[in-house]
Amino acid sequence: MKHVLLAVSGPSGVGKGTMVKTLISRREDVVESVSCTTRAPREGEVHGKHYFFLSKEEFERRIAENDFLEYDEHFGNYYGTPKSFVRETLKTKSVIMEIDVVGALNAKKTFPECVLVMVVPPSVEELKRRLSGRGSETEEQILGRLARMDYELSHKDEYDHIIVNDDLEKAIADLMKIIDGE
Ligand code: ADP
Ligand code: 5GP
Repeated sequence: MKHVLLAVSGPSGVGKGTMVKTLISRREDVVESVSCTTRAPREGEVHGKHYFFLSKEEFERRIAENDFLEYDEHFGNYYGTPKSFVRETLKTKSVIMEIDVVGALNAKKTFPECVLVMVVPPSVEELKRRLSGRGSETEEQILGRLARMDYELSHKDEYDHIIVNDDLEKAIADLMKIIDGE
């Protein structure tokens, strides 16, 4: 079977992480992409599993060598998807990147075979409920994430597939169908 590179985007709280992690736990032939970053590892984070932790010099050398499908700066650190990891893994497995709209569109430019999937909520009210229910953000952070939602959704037309995450099992099945159908 052909292995595919999938970029999964969508507003914060829509359920991307839950969908991707559940799918990966059920499929040995699908893995999540491991990004590179220049930020320091947090407690419990493992090099090569959560991220590849690089020095700024090493990251910049790899930018110059064109080794990133896409990269960006967040909070003063570089983050990027290494082409080398993706290429090597695609020989035996499909790869999912959970990535924002900017990163996904950049990845598609460098790697046109990349399939773009946007996950949308059944309604804005339900998205608010999920963000509040997750309990990991303050009220202010939730408002910031909701404000960003309009921007993410405004790029829907540039995506190859849209999945409505209403019933979680159905949304996971939709994602599997995309992987198997590509
Ligand atoms: P994201 O990775 O998109 O930010 P999460 O995967 O963290 O979102 O999901 C946000 C919250 O919504 C979590 O508490 C999760 O359990 C819940 N959730 C995910 N999918 C569904 C669904 N289909 N129905 C109800 N709750 C869901
Ligand atoms: P954190 O430091 O909390 O792990 O991640 C900070 C931010 O970096 C998050 O918004 C995350 O989505 C983003 N990020 C992580 N990996 C990548 C990547 O490979 N490329 C891009 N463009 N952003 C990333």
